[in-house]
Amino acid sequence: MKAVRLKAYHQLPVVEEVPDPTVKGPFDVLVRVGGAGVCRTDLHIIEEQWAGAMGVALPYTLGHENAGWVQEVGSAVSSVAVGDTVILHPTPTCGLCRSCRAGDDMHCANSSFPGLSGDGGMAELLLTSERACVKLDSATRPQDVAALADAGITAYHAVRKAVPLLFPGTTAVVIGAGGLGHIGIQCLAALTATKIIVVDRNPDALKLAEQIGAHETVVANGSHVQGVLDLTGGRGADVVFDFVAEQGAEQDGFAMTARAGSYFVIGYGGTVHIPTLDIISTERNIVGNIVGTYNDLAELMVLAQAGRVTLHTRTYPLDAAVDAIQDLDAGRVRGRAILVP
Ligand SMILES: [Zn+2]
Ligand SMILES: [Zn+2]
Repeated sequence: MKAVRLKAYHQLPVVEEVPDPTVKGPFDVLVRVGGAGVCRTDLHIIEEQWAGAMGVALPYTLGHENAGWVQEVGSAVSSVAVGDTVILHPTPTCGLCRSCRAGDDMHCANSSFPGLSGDGGMAELLLTSERACVKLDSATRPQDVAALADAGITAYHAVRKAVPLLFPGTTAVVIGAGGLGHIGIQCLAALTATKIIVVDRNPDALKLAEQIGAHETVVANGSHVQGVLDLTGGRGADVVFDFVAEQGAEQDGFAMTARAGSYFVIGYGGTVHIPTLDIISTERNIVGNIVGTYNDLAELMVLAQAGRVTLHTRTYPLDAAVDAIQDLDAGRVRGRAILVP
């Protein structure tokens, strides 16, 4: 089969022929890939940022945002069958450890991360496990939803955790209405009755935000903290979702958070410097978020298949993977780049 292989760090990957993966274990599922998202994380992988954390040997196949059709199943697989349309949770998990038994997939003690820790889905076939498969309506096109497997689930997970905090009368701020943020806005609109304020530098992104659920928008032009305070009677927001969390957004996000409110960190790259006195005296919470659970992905797919969360995509054939990666790196992709084998 064809696959997008990373052969050396700091060099673009290469599309080449590799042996087909085969079902070996009883819970293995072989998926014919219908869509593989191209993500900024792939750029960071090429830049060698993940090499130490993942300990993966080169060459290997990229691709951690995958959906497709079941091609073959192991002898014990019972929840999906050949021909089913599936989207794949990014981390196949063991199902046996304490985190798995709590439904907390991202903290499984024995998980793998195809596309980061081993061969991923930028290929014609991907070997995964039954536990990673979320079965979809057969009318769903894998290329339309693939990126929800990582970008989407991450935004959904943060919003889902905050739902009990966002009862009617509350206010939520979304910082950054890009790839993840625009999914977060749609999830907030679908799951809560909170007032949604969106902060972004880009007026076009704010225009889109208004169309998908934002009640108020604030241009990030230096006076945006005050802008949010003005819209909240001086209190700040009950929950701030920071999809940027670098270049100063992390200070602004905490400053926009109301007393006893919560600052949810989803983006990364910056450093939070906050006097501990400010944290205790106002009882503000700082909450980390990493990808999401299997159930988060299953719930998000209910919204996606009902048309309540949609993703802008631009498709490329698998052979054009390098073009897609270069377009993403150069900021030429609106929405999400998806490889279609
Ligand atoms: Zn990703
Ligand atoms: Zn586990």
